[in-house]
Amino acid sequence: MGYTLNRQQADALLAALSKDYTVYAPKRFLNQGRYSATDVIRYAEVERFEDIVWQTKSDYPAKEVLTPIQQALFYFTEDEYRESKGPKKPILILARPCDINAQHIQAKIYAGNGGYTDLYYERVREMVKFAMMECCGGDDTCFCVSMGTNKTSDYSLAFKFSDDGVQVQVTDNAFASYFGDLPQTDYTPSFVEENELKVTVPDLSDKEVRKALKSHPMWQEFNSRCISCGACTVACSTCTCFTTRDVIYGDNPEVGERRRVTSSCQIAGFDQMAGQREFRSTAADRMRYKVLHKFHDYKARFGDSHMCVGCGRCTHRCPELISISATVNKVSAAVNEIKAGLAQK
Ligand code: SF4
Ligand code: SF4
Repeated sequence: MGYTLNRQQADALLAALSKDYTVYAPKRFLNQGRYSATDVIRYAEVERFEDIVWQTKSDYPAKEVLTPIQQALFYFTEDEYRESKGPKKPILILARPCDINAQHIQAKIYAGNGGYTDLYYERVREMVKFAMMECCGGDDTCFCVSMGTNKTSDYSLAFKFSDDGVQVQVTDNAFASYFGDLPQTDYTPSFVEENELKVTVPDLSDKEVRKALKSHPMWQEFNSRCISCGACTVACSTCTCFTTRDVIYGDNPEVGERRRVTSSCQIAGFDQMAGQREFRSTAADRMRYKVLHKFHDYKARFGDSHMCVGCGRCTHRCPELISISATVNKVSAAVNEIKAGLAQK
């Protein structure tokens, strides 16, 4: 079923949906960007059609709806603790195909990791339905086609926005009633078929190659370029690293709450263990870990896809202009060089 709504009808649809769902979409926050007088676009609750930013990619991903930057896990006193509460209303997230595919990746990490299920993720995820926003083509940091994340069928509604209104496809009968007796029109969403940017994912199936790649000089440039700020992973559609922090309410250290706070494998000391032992003590080590985790380790563990959806947000947010696509292409070149060297032995 397809419909074409003008702005007024789109506002009425959003109002009706908001009665039953908490609706999240990319929204512009004026003057809250990284530099003075710049904006930031991130996910937030929307109630008006004009609040939805559809023309450009959000700076931060849809994952923030499911796993906020910080969230209370439980509250404690001297003799008891109480779990925090999950969402009361179902959630509808307007997201591009890459962000929807990112949730399939996050779900595997949170729900299928060694037999443990993260209840804080699960209790939100089971309330979520997606309204797919047709992508207008992305920008010069996107490489979803290289990662195979440019398409999805995991949506209840699909939207194609324009200045005049929105075209809608309804694929989930639970949403049919919101369209009443509006006349049906033909609309089937299109997907991005080609990006300006192309990434060659390296073939790292050979253990000897992986071993040689670990000490390849290509990583050294990151010791002078990467400032280990973690901005790339916070903006990443799929990264899940977090730490926990106790917030004490008053003088009594036994009364407070434990929070989950987003963290990053790129920050110095993230992997520090008892006795000050660190596995990745330089920016180069940490970059190698991140890149290989995204483009080899996750797939080796979970099987079906890499852990990068090619959204390009990490490139966009990096203050040192480090590009994930250029880095992965450099890894591919290094792997070819290593393979050629091994073949000559
Ligand atoms: S690594 Fe970069 S391009 Fe890949 S999913 Fe994360 S933010 Fe997007
Ligand atoms: S790659 Fe860029 S964003 Fe990521 S930690 Fe290094 S400097 Fe920060």
